[in-house]
Amino acid sequence: MAPLLIIDPGHGGIDPGGGSNERFVEKNMVLTISTYQYRRFQELGVSVQLTRNSDVTLESEERAAIIRESGATYCISNHINSGGGRGAEAIYSIYASAALPRELVEELASEGMPTRRVFTRTLPNNPRLDYYFIHRETGSVESVILEYGFADNAQDSEKIQNDWRDLAEAVVRGFCQFVGHPYRPPQTQGGGGSTSPGSGGGAPGSGDSGSDGSNPGTGSPGSGTGNPPSIPEWKQEAIDWLFEQGLLTNRDWYNRVDEPLPLWAEAIILRRLYEKLRS
Ligand SMILES: [Zn+2]
Repeated sequence: MAPLLIIDPGHGGIDPGGGSNERFVEKNMVLTISTYQYRRFQELGVSVQLTRNSDVTLESEERAAIIRESGATYCISNHINSGGGRGAEAIYSIYASAALPRELVEELASEGMPTRRVFTRTLPNNPRLDYYFIHRETGSVESVILEYGFADNAQDSEKIQNDWRDLAEAVVRGFCQFVGHPYRPPQTQGGGGSTSPGSGGGAPGSGDSGSDGSNPGTGSPGSGTGNPPSIPEWKQEAIDWLFEQGLLTNRDWYNRVDEPLPLWAEAIILRRLYEKLRS
């Protein structure tokens, strides 16, 4: 059955995305935001899909095909902006309504990310065609490009780094409001922050710091697609933290929540933590 929504984490693999800075890389930040939203929509009972759930390269045509063939009603393509500016932007198709993108940026604004603009853009030589392939080549899917803020703006990037979860949640809320789906805020697990890394087999391993996870299916376009199983919030939070802190960098591990951790991977995480504390 076709999902109601497909979430597209922009870029990936060999394409890091321009919305990067010393705090984060766009492809990773939007993957973190997108996988969070994916889990939340699943919890809320919204049928949802992802274009990629790991650090794989998706060429424009592949990405457009995944979105088009999903048969989804809506697509939210997550991005971080760059190039001088402040605040969130949403770009929608000339053949679509501004209602959904407006709703999404309003919710981002309610979390403290100001709205820059909501707009459409056409090809310079053809005012009847959308500029972006994600609008132009995705068939009947109503796609919104959502830029959460500017990576080269200090306020925006600090906000994104610190509050990405709130911003991601705002979009979940906005989408539910827009489609009239019942919304419940996420349950905050008491003492979730104290989830001990040594408490069980739940901690995933790390890739080696040299290879940045380019292995998983870079050659096969479809391999990043798919729907990871639902993962409890407290486990996912712990894993997200490892990635945010840079203690874990290889995205291969992201969905191997319950797999045992090899000794070498544990050693790498500990060494990174040690160096972090010492510096
Ligand atoms: Zn981007």
